[in-house]
Amino acid sequence: MRVYISVDIEGICTVVSGASTSVAGNDYTRARRQMTAEANAAVLGALAAGATEIVLNDSHGSMTNLIPEELHPAAELIQGTPKPLMMMEGVDAGFDAAIFIGYHARMQQHGILSHTISGGTVSNIYLNGQPLGETAINAAIAGYYKTPVVLVAGDNEVCQEAKATLGKVKTVAVKQAITRYSARSLHPAKACELIQASVTEALKDLSQYQLYQPAGPYTFALQFIQAGQADAAAMMPGTTRVDASTVSFSHENYIEAFRGLRCMISLARP
Ligand SMILES: [Zn+2]
Repeated sequence: MRVYISVDIEGICTVVSGASTSVAGNDYTRARRQMTAEANAAVLGALAAGATEIVLNDSHGSMTNLIPEELHPAAELIQGTPKPLMMMEGVDAGFDAAIFIGYHARMQQHGILSHTISGGTVSNIYLNGQPLGETAINAAIAGYYKTPVVLVAGDNEVCQEAKATLGKVKTVAVKQAITRYSARSLHPAKACELIQASVTEALKDLSQYQLYQPAGPYTFALQFIQAGQADAAAMMPGTTRVDASTVSFSHENYIEAFRGLRCMISLARP
C-alpha cells in the first residue's frame, strides 16, 4: 500500500497565531517540531496498517518546515517551492490513499487561521459556483490521480468542512477553535497518539472511500480581498473579469484549471 501525506501547519495542535506559522515567529521552532511529530504519527499509523511506501509533502509557506532528520526513516520527503502541484506535489505518482495533516478551514469561515491558499490575497475561491477550501481543492487533485483522501486532521472546523465536502472521510480534531486566533488544544502528545491510531483505522478498508472528482468543465472564480489584486490577476491570458474583485478562469481539465488558479494568485500577491 502506497500512502501520500500532505502536511500544513495552521491545523497543527497548539498552533493559534502567526507567531507559530511564519519563520520569523517566536513560536515557529516549537510549532515545526510539533508539525514533524504529527507527520511522524501519521507515518507510524500508516506503517501499522501495512504501508510499504510513504511520501510526505511539506505544504506550508516555504515548504521547508518539516525537520528532515527528525522524520521517521520509512518516509520520503518532498520540500521546497514552487512545485507544480503545490500542496499535492508527487501525488501524480499514484497512491492508494492520501492523508491531510495540519489542515485548516477556508477563508471567511470560523476556524484557526482560516484562509485559502494566500491569506492576504484570496477572499473566496469558487469552483463552478461552489466555495471550496484547500481541503477540497487538494482532494480534487488527489481524485484526478485516482487517490481517495481518507483522513483529515486539524481543528474542529476543518473536520466539519472535510465531511461536508468530501463525504466519507475520517477526521481528527486536535483542537477546538474558539476564535480565529484562539483554541482549546489536546496535549501535543495526545494529538499524536490520536492521529496515529486514526490513520491506522482509516487505512484498514480503502473500499469505503470515494474519489473526490467534481464534474468538469472547471471554472475557478477567484474573489480577491481588494480590486487591485483582481486588476493584476486579470493580466493572465484567458481570464474573465467577473466583477471588481473577481476574476475567473476555465478549463476542461482540472489540473490545468488549478494551474490557472495558481497563476492568478501569484500575479495578485503583494
Ligand atoms: Zn499553511
